[in-house]
Amino acid sequence: MQAWVIGNWKQNPATSDDVQTLLSDLLATADKNDGANSAGCQLMVAPSCIHLAGVSDHLQDSPVLCAAQDISAHSGTTGAYTGDCSAQQVADAGATWTLLGHSERRQYHQETHACLLSKMTHAFDQGLGVVFCIGETQAQYDAGQTLAVIDEQLTVIKDILTQQPALADTLFDRLIIAYEPVWAIGTGKVPTVAEVSATHQHIKQTVAGYGEALDNITVLYGGSVNADNADSFAADAMIDGALVGGASLKAASFLAIAQAF
Ligand code: PGA
Repeated sequence: MQAWVIGNWKQNPATSDDVQTLLSDLLATADKNDGANSAGCQLMVAPSCIHLAGVSDHLQDSPVLCAAQDISAHSGTTGAYTGDCSAQQVADAGATWTLLGHSERRQYHQETHACLLSKMTHAFDQGLGVVFCIGETQAQYDAGQTLAVIDEQLTVIKDILTQQPALADTLFDRLIIAYEPVWAIGTGKVPTVAEVSATHQHIKQTVAGYGEALDNITVLYGGSVNADNADSFAADAMIDGALVGGASLKAASFLAIAQAF
C-alpha cells in the first residue's frame, strides 16, 4: 500500500517569505534525495488558506501534493458565508485534498457530525480528496473509551456511503483516515506502537464493515511524530503513514519522517 506523509502546517509559518523558504528547503532536500517520491511515500503539505495558491504554484512540477486544512460546511461553491473558503475555491487555488475534522477544528470551532458530513460531501462533489481526522481526548483515553469515540466519529463515513452508495467502489482512492489521539498532538506524548496498531486495525475493520468494496483503507497516525520515533511507527504494517504537525515545519525533519516510511 502507498504510504503517505502529510505536513499539517496549521497557522504557520508567519509570513509568505517564511513559506517560500520552507518550500525551497523541502524541494531542495527532496531533490537531493532524488525526488520526494524516492522516499517511497506520497508527500503532501497543508498550508493555511491564505498561502494555498502560492504553495500549490510552487509545488506544481514537484511530486509533493497540496491540501487545504479545512473547507466551508455551508456551501461547496459560493454564498454569503463571511470568512469561509469553499471546496470549489480551494480546488481552484490548487489544492487536490483537504483535511477535515482535525481535533483543533472540533475543539475550537465545535465541528459536529452534521458539519463534517456536509464538508465531506462538498469535498467529494468538488473532486477533492479528504484526510479525515479522528481521535480521543486524554479523558476519553483514560476512561478506556478510545474505540467507542472512534466508532462514533467514523459514522460520518458510514453516512456518506448511505447518501451516495456509488462512492463505495472508489472511496479509498480519495479518503484517508488519520488517527490522532488529541492528547498526543503537540505534547511530545505518544501511544505505544502496539496501541496505535490495534486502534488502526479496529478502524480498518470497522470501515470495511460498511461495505464489501471497502478494502485498501489507508490509516495514518498523527500526534508528536518526529524524526526519532517515525521508524517505530513505520515498521508496523497497520500504520500507513503519518500526519505531522510541528515536525513538518522544518524540511529536514519532515523528510526524515518520509524516509522512515
Ligand atoms: P503534531 O501535530 O505533530 O505537532 O503533534 C499533529 C497534528 O495535529 O496533525
